[in-house]
Amino acid sequence: MASRRGACHAGAGNIGTYNKTPHSYRKWCKTCGGHIFTEHPGMGLTDVNAAVIPGFPFRPGIHAHYQETHLRIQDDLPKMKDVPKEMGGSGVGMAE
Ligand SMILES: [Zn+2]
Repeated sequence: MASRRGACHAGAGNIGTYNKTPHSYRKWCKTCGGHIFTEHPGMGLTDVNAAVIPGFPFRPGIHAHYQETHLRIQDDLPKMKDVPKEMGGSGVGMAE
């Protein structure tokens, strides 16, 4: 078991992969079972869970898939219906 967040995730050989579809490959730590990142080959994108990067200065820029929200977030950040066009989405924005 991990005693410090991120300490046990080291080494490519310690990373497991699960893919339900060819669009997303979830990568998890074989030691603690924690989610580390997800590869999206079709989009050329690797989605890294910010919580696994110690000291990462997380500053959100937009909200994606806001059409799915059940809780309105009033933070003045742009709200995207799905994802930006650059990521293969509609690029359509939504009101808070
Ligand atoms: Zn781990």
